[in-house]
Amino acid sequence: MSWKIYSLDEIRSMAKFAIENPEAFWLDKAKFITWFKQPEKVIEGEPPQERWFSGGTTNISYNAIDRHLAQKKDKIAFYWINERLDFRSISYQDLYQEVNKAAYVLSELGVKKGDVVSLLMPSTPEAVYFSLAVHRLGAVLAIHYIGLSEETLAYRFNDCGSKVLVVASKTFRNGNEIRVKDFIDKVLESRNTPIQKILVVPRGYSDFNVNGQRDVVYDDLKPRGKIYVKPVEVEANDPATIYYTSGTTGRPKGLYHTNGGYVVALNWAFKAIFDPKENDVWWTISELGWPVWPMANLYTIPVMGITGVLFEGYIGYKRDLFSRIIERYSVNLVWSSTTTLYTLKSLGEESVKAGDTSTLRVILNTGEPLNVGAWLWLNQNLPHVKIADAYWMTEHLLPIAATPYGIGEIPYKAGSAGIQFPGSYFLVVDDEGKQLPPKQKGYIVLKPLSPALAKMWNDPNYERIKKQYWSRFPGYFYTGDYGYVDEDGYLFVLGRADDVIRAEGERIGTLEVESVIVTHPNVAEAAVVGQGGSIVAFIVPRQGIEANDTLRNDIKSYCRNAGYIVDKIVFVKRLPKTKSGKIMRRLLKAILANENPGDISTLDDIKILDELKESLKGLT
Ligand code: ATP
Ligand code: MG
Repeated sequence: MSWKIYSLDEIRSMAKFAIENPEAFWLDKAKFITWFKQPEKVIEGEPPQERWFSGGTTNISYNAIDRHLAQKKDKIAFYWINERLDFRSISYQDLYQEVNKAAYVLSELGVKKGDVVSLLMPSTPEAVYFSLAVHRLGAVLAIHYIGLSEETLAYRFNDCGSKVLVVASKTFRNGNEIRVKDFIDKVLESRNTPIQKILVVPRGYSDFNVNGQRDVVYDDLKPRGKIYVKPVEVEANDPATIYYTSGTTGRPKGLYHTNGGYVVALNWAFKAIFDPKENDVWWTISELGWPVWPMANLYTIPVMGITGVLFEGYIGYKRDLFSRIIERYSVNLVWSSTTTLYTLKSLGEESVKAGDTSTLRVILNTGEPLNVGAWLWLNQNLPHVKIADAYWMTEHLLPIAATPYGIGEIPYKAGSAGIQFPGSYFLVVDDEGKQLPPKQKGYIVLKPLSPALAKMWNDPNYERIKKQYWSRFPGYFYTGDYGYVDEDGYLFVLGRADDVIRAEGERIGTLEVESVIVTHPNVAEAAVVGQGGSIVAFIVPRQGIEANDTLRNDIKSYCRNAGYIVDKIVFVKRLPKTKSGKIMRRLLKAILANENPGDISTLDDIKILDELKESLKGLT
């Protein structure tokens, strides 16, 4: 299907139409999926208790496989490749057979509609098989990060309540073997969780323990011949998947998205952003535990019937991996976390130039505001590629703002997340919740009436969700972000509202200062925090650059010229990041103030705490 290409004004009208006529707008989008029973109503009730497409029944696995099998048997559904360049190709027919087998084994283990199944696997075809198998049975999927601490994983198993866990025996990342099954044995030995059955998916030689009553090995149960498991009919509002937020600003929140509205919303999102063509190849660079991986590889790529690339490992493992993989699979579309794009920049030109990237049309950024320096670098080194942006949050997985190149010829503005996305509706408001005119900084809120708004898990009376998101600005959903819109309606996210710095009577978003610092030629990465009324910058110098007082003074005067007084500069080897690669500024603040950092369960590497304390020694 090809689309009319709309102008910026027309997209604005579309966004206005969507907020004024949500029923008509979303009824049209509901046709992206196949319904067993058509919905009776588009919207019922008020957020956060509203229901979407009530009475409609469907199944995600059916939408991702069965419905296009007749035309796409031999088409590649996924290419898989790891950092060591082992590879496999999976056709839609393979996907069909493997998902049916996985679903059969899960049902033998007792998994039924509505049960929660946890998954702890790297980015492999098996991760797709088991995820879609969970959906085939109408069960609820909870994907966790490999590398979470024992305590955090145990907390999540308890919070989501899953009795069955599917786990890969091991994975490789950045040259290291990670023994996932051994780790799970330790978690379950020392802590109480509801997990009763572990299904182990062996990777090569079976060098793991099998605990008699509890563990089963997939290869022992997997049916040899063909098998068919009927997709279980679920209602549009039945939970499909549980996600935890990244934990950037505090303890991660557990939320769920639905089988109907959520999949409809995501398919609309990517039609509008990418408008994938029938033969497009789309690579999403993300770990499994971040919603980005399932959003692309479960709920969009196979639902659209196109081809995905699954990558297992770390993109920085070899300098040329990124562009070599693009060349090898003629990748057209890349969806990447912001931190991955920064990694490419720090790896240098070779990362994007070693392989032929001429097939690549769009790179989509998500996770954090993409700083101007990184955008400039990408633009210079990949001039044929459009850089797109989508600003969304686990709680609302339809972009809040984006550059929807799939429907429009819209200009990119460096530093901006894009324009009002049709189907979402954001406003920038002051402390009292009054809408601010363009160019004035304030809090980003949503007037949401979209099927991509999550509900909280374990919150049957909607009390937690109301308190967390709806109480700060009555009538609005509060994103927790700070920013402004310009006169053309482009949204600039300036950072988290909690991190806003009050310096010299002004409120400054962290990104405002960081954007300046990272354009300094000797700086690789930066994070700023407020301390009293002053600005403290944590800076990672570029490789080979000496961190000394000359550089410190030079950066300070560089910032002064741009209008920001940076009082202190702390040179560090790296910044504290969450598993999804976001800078945890609250940790920097806590360390500076010598306070307890709070929940750091998603901190990527706990060792950074000591590193940071060391870097702070002697700072005056
Ligand atoms: P937590 O809610 O647990 O503190 P988190 O907010 O980082 O963690 P996510 O839901 O993964 O958890 O991230 C959503 C947030 O990420 C948004 O609120 C916004 O701050 C930021 N974000 C995501 N994409 C973009 C983008 N393209 N541009 C700017 N900011 C973005
Ligand atoms: Mg958040």
